[in-house]
Amino acid sequence: MTAGSQLDPADAEPAGPVPGPVTRLAAGEEKLVAALTVAEKARLLTGADGWRIPGCQAVGLRAMVTSDGPAGVRGTTKDERRPSASLPCPSALGATWDQELVFELAAALGAEAKSKGVDVLLAPTVNLMRTPLGGRGFECFAEDPVLTARLASAYVRGVQQAGVAATVKHYVGNDSETGRWSYDARIAEGVLRELYLLPFEACVREAGALLIMAAYNKVNGIPMTENAHLLRDVLKREWGFTGVVTSDWHAARSTLATALAGLDLSMPGPDGPWGDLLAQAVADGTLAAELLDDKVLRLLQVARRVGALDGRPAGAAGHRPAAAAGQAPAIAATAPQLVDPAVLRRTAAASFVLLRNSGDVLPLDPGTIGRLAVAGPNAVHPTIMGGGSAGVIAAGISTPAGALRSALAGRAEVSVASGCQTWQSVPEPPIGSLQDPVTREHGVRLEFLDGQDRLLAAEHRTSTSLAWWDGVPAGVGWGKPGRIVLRASFRATEPGLHLLSAAGVGRLRVTADGVTVIDDVTAIPDDPVEAMTRPGELRAGLWLEPGTDTGLRVEFWPAADGAGPLAVRLGIVPADDDEALLAEAEAEAAAADAAVVVVGSAELTESEGFDRSTLALPGRQDELVSRIAAVNSKTVVVVNSGMPVLMPWAEQVAAIIYAWLPGQAFGDALADVLLGAAEPGGRLPVTLPAAEADCPVLHATPDERGILDYSEGLLIGYRGYDANGVAPRYPFGHGLGYTTWAYESVDGPAEVAAGDDLQLVVTIRNTGPRPGKEVVQAYLAEPARPADRGRPRRALAAFAAVRAAPGDLAQARLTIPARAFARYDEDLAGWIWPGGRYAVHVGRSSRDLPLSVSVRSGGSAGRRR
Ligand code: BGC
Repeated sequence: MTAGSQLDPADAEPAGPVPGPVTRLAAGEEKLVAALTVAEKARLLTGADGWRIPGCQAVGLRAMVTSDGPAGVRGTTKDERRPSASLPCPSALGATWDQELVFELAAALGAEAKSKGVDVLLAPTVNLMRTPLGGRGFECFAEDPVLTARLASAYVRGVQQAGVAATVKHYVGNDSETGRWSYDARIAEGVLRELYLLPFEACVREAGALLIMAAYNKVNGIPMTENAHLLRDVLKREWGFTGVVTSDWHAARSTLATALAGLDLSMPGPDGPWGDLLAQAVADGTLAAELLDDKVLRLLQVARRVGALDGRPAGAAGHRPAAAAGQAPAIAATAPQLVDPAVLRRTAAASFVLLRNSGDVLPLDPGTIGRLAVAGPNAVHPTIMGGGSAGVIAAGISTPAGALRSALAGRAEVSVASGCQTWQSVPEPPIGSLQDPVTREHGVRLEFLDGQDRLLAAEHRTSTSLAWWDGVPAGVGWGKPGRIVLRASFRATEPGLHLLSAAGVGRLRVTADGVTVIDDVTAIPDDPVEAMTRPGELRAGLWLEPGTDTGLRVEFWPAADGAGPLAVRLGIVPADDDEALLAEAEAEAAAADAAVVVVGSAELTESEGFDRSTLALPGRQDELVSRIAAVNSKTVVVVNSGMPVLMPWAEQVAAIIYAWLPGQAFGDALADVLLGAAEPGGRLPVTLPAAEADCPVLHATPDERGILDYSEGLLIGYRGYDANGVAPRYPFGHGLGYTTWAYESVDGPAEVAAGDDLQLVVTIRNTGPRPGKEVVQAYLAEPARPADRGRPRRALAAFAAVRAAPGDLAQARLTIPARAFARYDEDLAGWIWPGGRYAVHVGRSSRDLPLSVSVRSGGSAGRRR
């Protein structure tokens, strides 16, 4: 729709303020609203720039700063001089099944945000892992709505406890990336209610989330920023949401339709379809003045909650203008308070899932291992986070190879071999191999030149992968004549052929010692975020000798029709031969007492902006694992992926740990777990398939009409495997830990009234030799009714993490919420309790449920709850 377009007749309900708590809560703010003109009000509702929500002196409102999460708080720039704590990705947090831990981590993240002057964190992501290929699956907690809802609520409460507003995203149906800007997710209302909306509902009703982000896609024909049914009727009227609905970045594409449907804020700015057009709509009478007031009231209430209305000085770094290149970077008034590395390390260990441990090979006993072979591309270059807006510049990275070497120093010999290459974009050269020709420091010279070759700004940088949303000098950018230049001299450490690359969306020219080696134009990607995550790359081969310096110059002219963040990148890597790397890793493993092989995603495998095309590990990693397993019977594989990968070698290796994208503490946490200082505490938040064809939903490509049909209904994830009678490689909920448990009893009432919660107590005993954590899971099975096709055989209803010492009992108190016994009736447009005899199955995964109890649920139709 274009700016100012009208609603479909179906949506043209009476426009007016959303009745309810907003007006009641906002007595103080109402006076402020009354003090503003229509134009001032309209101005508040579009971003001031890429990340700021405007302030207004007249009412004592300062600008509020937004920043992406969810796996760290980046701030308003992505700059190696202002790093952030890099957290385990949300699928790793999903694997903890631990609400308290997620709350603790989120509170620390909120504190980091606050210390950086960030008021609004653009997290958590609560979409579901509908397909394991989903590019942003690593940003989601789970394939199950109940697990997602519980952990996301804890996350929201944690962030908001620190005085920062959480933004629950992407409302709703943004469960895959292909065509995300426009696809039309066709989802039955009951499926929306029982699966995809559930986590949003919990974050609003239970955790009091302050913002919701409306997604790019359509749902049932209507863009989410214009979806009056889901924004106004469900979110605001039915759930009583009193906060702000923001657009995803550039997702608001009309004036009136969005404003009437319930969008409150159009981001980013200063351009966009609102601004003066919104004020004009009030003047024309097409938008009720009360509706505009309602949006401003909501915004002021968020401002009050984050301290933007209380006359306090603007926060630290975030409220300063972004430093243009060439100027000194904005320095925070106080040093940012990054999340404690010890918490990151503990959380990562608590998320690692021990899938297999044959012969109890883990934990490794340093006393019996004189020589350890550490292998795999991710042992040396781990992928600690996924790509896209969730990316941060990590404050420091512990690699598996480095951490194992130091943990075993003086106790065992450790060999390290990468085994094969998996990169898709030529890696950044080690910064010590580059020298800035002006400052002579390690790194590169960055320059901005205008169309007449005049120097606009210059600075020294210690990264060769640079990105900007704002803050580049005028004269440089999409469709502008200026260019960005990187200059450095490069010194190789190995002789021979090297691959040199430059990446960016537009024209790239590279010279080496004055000779042009690259001069070409890259394509404009489908999704603007790809301009940052995987811009087109051009390559050249260079023959280099160690000790000789090569003068490099990269020039980048951003494309005329480009969009999204600006990014430019320089890569250099020795052109290694996989055969030699594989043979070296195999020989080292053969000579060692045990082998740890760290495989997984490469930097561009998992990202916002695109879905994966395969579940197979990139490069020759499967071959690497098989060859090492064949020569070493104590082969431990660590999978460093945020989402499922195929593991054809699973039965050949002694142990497997699924480590997700674990953030900056990866290596240290892994050393803790492999050597037994910490237990691998995770359980799978997503089913791991044996083969791609086994997945209930795999590819998520919209059809030629742009429709993405959620025809599987409720049967995603383990529900689909159960319904299809397919055995997964490892089931949802699975994870071994370092001790064993006996499930002794489950106790609770035999009946539950419609609309009531059910309380159960599960008693388990630690039967193993070590203290440990167990995640007790309860799955509810509905009474079989012949007419009930498409309903899951059983679904997760409650869980609790408990701990016990060897020999001790532990009791898990589970609350099965009333909603678990209900279903959404599309004809009645409400929740009903069909009633009948339900079974609650209790155990340690969706496929290992040793205890059961039968409960009669009372029936009652048409109750809303
Ligand atoms: C993403 C959001 C993100 C926003 C700002 C969008 O492309 O979908 O998750 O918060 O950009 O970076």
